[in-house]
Amino acid sequence: MWIDSHAHLDAPEFAADRAQVQVQTRAAGVAHCFIPAVERANWETVRALAHAQHDSYGLGIHPLYVPQADVADLQALDVALATHLADPRLVAVGEIGLDFFVPDLCTPAMREKQEFFYRAQLELARKHELPVVLHVRRSADRLLKHLRAVGQGGYRWRGIAHAFNGSDAQAAHFVEMGFKLGFGGALTFERALQLRSLVQSLPLSAIVLETDAPDIPPHWLYRTAAERAEGLKQGRNTPDQVPRIAQVVAQLRGLALEPLRSAVWDNTLDALPKIAALV
Ligand SMILES: [Zn+2]
Repeated sequence: MWIDSHAHLDAPEFAADRAQVQVQTRAAGVAHCFIPAVERANWETVRALAHAQHDSYGLGIHPLYVPQADVADLQALDVALATHLADPRLVAVGEIGLDFFVPDLCTPAMREKQEFFYRAQLELARKHELPVVLHVRRSADRLLKHLRAVGQGGYRWRGIAHAFNGSDAQAAHFVEMGFKLGFGGALTFERALQLRSLVQSLPLSAIVLETDAPDIPPHWLYRTAAERAEGLKQGRNTPDQVPRIAQVVAQLRGLALEPLRSAVWDNTLDALPKIAALV
């Protein structure tokens, strides 16, 4: 069995057939999904969904939702984490992080606001001793800097740097700091040379798998701009793609599927330990 360590199952893309997606997920051998939150407005939705589907969830404010967030949301997050800490399905603070790719988020004021929200949420994760699920986009070094600062005094971080696409050195720093790196559809593209070489060279103990559904479709679901212009719809990514993504990873590493499956299962439970009681 597999775990999808990052699936936005609350997304509107699943409104019409969420139950069917769940059936296909389990039929494909994906026993569990972690559902991250993105903003205060969907905390209750991801919590209810994780319970309804026997999955797990995180609570947090995603960097793409920082522009409309305010300090009261951080206080609300502290309260929500305290309220649900005993909930076996609340397994992380997330999705949080920094996005220095989206132009609107890169103005000096917005970079500062992102770092303020990221830092405050790291402090809440440490306070409540929860793992963190990180959004890393052109931001690995800044993410690491705040992790070091908030972790001072020997705090042992846990969690996942999701959809990781940094350098070998940045990868090594996250791993040293206690993180697993999440890989998904992006590595199925042959042109993703750096990502593929990273997945080949990392210690097996550093790797977890994810789809980031409904985003980042693997190449077999991806429609090019030209295909879309001809009326083909962009393929929707779903958690049942994990085993096929895993086949690509196994092939890249020259490994059989079963030892990979067993390792990423253990790695996911190491990153998000509360899931162990749920699967
Ligand atoms: Zn995400």
